[in-house]
Amino acid sequence: MTQKITYDTQRQNELVQQFEHVKNMIDTESNQRNTVPVSLLAVSKLKPASDIQILYDHGVREFGENYVQELEEKSQLLPDDIKWHFIGGLQTNKCKDLAKIPNLHTIETLDSLKKAKKLNEARGKYQPDQPAISCDIQINTSHESQKSGLQDEKEIFDTVEFLLSDENKYIKLSGLMTIGSWDVSHNEGEENKDFSKLVEWKTKIDDKFGTNLRLSMGMSADFKQAIKQGTSEVRIGTDIFGVRPPKDQAKIL
Ligand SMILES: *Cc1c(COP(=O)(O)O)cnc(C)c1O
Repeated sequence: MTQKITYDTQRQNELVQQFEHVKNMIDTESNQRNTVPVSLLAVSKLKPASDIQILYDHGVREFGENYVQELEEKSQLLPDDIKWHFIGGLQTNKCKDLAKIPNLHTIETLDSLKKAKKLNEARGKYQPDQPAISCDIQINTSHESQKSGLQDEKEIFDTVEFLLSDENKYIKLSGLMTIGSWDVSHNEGEENKDFSKLVEWKTKIDDKFGTNLRLSMGMSADFKQAIKQGTSEVRIGTDIFGVRPPKDQAKIL
């Protein structure tokens, strides 16, 4: 980090207010349900570094990003104690670049054993002294072909086994993640089948491996339902930062 990023107070007031509003809704919902504490991941993809700096100055430390290059740039511009979460589609040939980011805290979209091995190898090579990267295995709970994520039991178990084994030192298993399908997330009030499926996977894996996995499910459109169904984290972009610009018009600075 070279120089602190500046911002204007109007945007600051707006963002802090929206963040607090979302935070209050989450706390209300989880208090009513008596659930596990729910953490809020602020999804800052395609939003400028100044927006992140505003929330950082408000005390927020965890941010979610979807694109490797954008995350690389932002991580260099912004404070070192941010805990970045990568929540975008994970490509094999980008595993190395991701693993190099020193303060990459979590990858929520791990969807193959091969990529787990790549990440471990690259982290060990480039950042052996940084903390191990927490990984959530992404499960394709809706079986939509355009969605990433594992759905085969053997592949899921093999990936868990690798993450828990001594073969692997530089990444670690933290939980499971899913993206609810659009249809389901817009059916207010009903149980979300994607979320129940993720909970089923957690039970299965916890029983077999003695883990206690966290769950990352729920976005702006469906986070209340995700809390009802026992999520540990919700990932909120639009409700905090407003609508995103198209990718080719997004500006970091
Ligand atoms: C963009 C994104 C989010 C945030 O979505 P909003 O609807 O803007 O809250 C959450 N999770 C993932 C995986 C995303 O890509």
